[in-house]
Formats: sequence, C-alpha cells, structure tokens
Amino acid sequence: MSTTAALAPVSLRRRAVLSPSEIEAANTRLAGATPSEIIAWASARFGARLAMTASFADTTLIDLATAVDPDIEVIFLDTGFHFPETLATVRRAMERYALNLTVLRPDPGDGRHVDDVWAAGTEACCHARKVAPLEAYLPGHADAWLSGLRRADSPDRAETPIVALDRRGLVKVNPMAEMTDAEYDAYVADHDVLVNTLTFDGYASIGCWPCTEPAADRSGRWAGLDKTECGLHL
Ligand code: SF4
Repeated sequence: MSTTAALAPVSLRRRAVLSPSEIEAANTRLAGATPSEIIAWASARFGARLAMTASFADTTLIDLATAVDPDIEVIFLDTGFHFPETLATVRRAMERYALNLTVLRPDPGDGRHVDDVWAAGTEACCHARKVAPLEAYLPGHADAWLSGLRRADSPDRAETPIVALDRRGLVKVNPMAEMTDAEYDAYVADHDVLVNTLTFDGYASIGCWPCTEPAADRSGRWAGLDKTECGLHL
C-alpha cells in the first residue's frame, strides 16, 4: 500500500499587470480605436482576469463588452441607496445579457453598521459603500477592469486616458474615453441599449438617490457640495 503526501496547491497564474512603458505604448496603439477594438485588446491581454464595473445608468459598456466576451465579470456596487429604477435596469440587463454579475455590498468592518456611516458625510459614505468594497474585491479577482468613463462626461474627465494604472496597481481600461456625446447617443439608439428610465425624467447622471438630482449633466451628482466623484476613479 502506498500513500501520497498532500501537496500544497501551487498557483501558476502569471499576473499580467502592465509596466508604465507598456501603458504608454497601449495608449499610443489604441488612440482612435473603436470601443470594441479596445475591449478586444483588453480581453486578449487579460483573459478571465478582466472585469468591468457598471452603474446601470444604461447598458452601453455592457453591450460592448459582452459582445467581445459574454462571460466577462460585471461588478455592481449595491450601495443600498440605489433608485428602484436602477435596480430594475439591473434586472432587465440580467434578462437580456445573462450577465456574469457580481454584487458587492458595504461592510465597514469596524463595528459600525453601514447605515450609520451616511451621517459622517458623503466622503465617508462613498468610501464605505463604493470604494472599500471594490478595493477589497477587485485585486483578488482581476488584473484589469473596464470602466465607462468618457472625456465628454465632464471637465474633470477631459483628460481620461484609454489605459492607465489605478492606485491599486490594476490596469484600468476606459474603452469609451474618446466617444463623443453624439457617438454615444447613436450607439444607444442603434443597438437599442437598455436605458435607466430616470433618464427620461431628466437625470443625465444617476447615482444614489440621496445624492442625485435631475440635471442635464453630472452637476446633479452631489449638487451643492464640493464633490464631483465618488472616489472609484481617483
Ligand atoms: Fe453615500 Fe451618496 Fe456616495 Fe451613495 S453617492 S455612497 S448615498 S454619499
């Protein structure tokens, strides 16, 4: 009778994080490329270690990304403060795209209940409900992620690169960075993209209900405060 000693598992996965010079080369190569071409490059480069985030204001990036990789992991940050219309858009997207959806929920992890964090202000709330859950999850599951940032979104986003290293050391790819508003609207119409119904009520940008007002641009987010981003993209 022979026995075989249990072997410790060995990871053979090679992390595919890009160097700064590779990031620069990728931006040069992808300048002027279509969003689909950029996603195809990212998918070929990172494979199953490519994920994406979605806010479900519409499903434009989901439509583009799932056409390249139907199994791409789509991450939704369930802050607990989403509009019912946003959750309805998530359900509609599940039906249309059979999404490989991961829902992340907040856990302050310091003994506080997350509902108490809101009183500490919007920075603490966004950190607890959006930034911390993504930072706890993403590095263990992805080497690169897609986001829907566009240069046309706002002056703060006018310099958005196509490819960058984020502060976690992950590669962040913005396939729609160069898309104009007209190109974006044309894609939505031509592909019958799912649109959050709040859009038809005057919400050009949609976040959590306590911090979103109807507006023709992103000024409806944290209106009246000196805050323009939740922190995910800083
Ligand atoms: Fe909290 Fe508002 Fe940020 Fe949502 S957008 S996480 S409600 S501060």
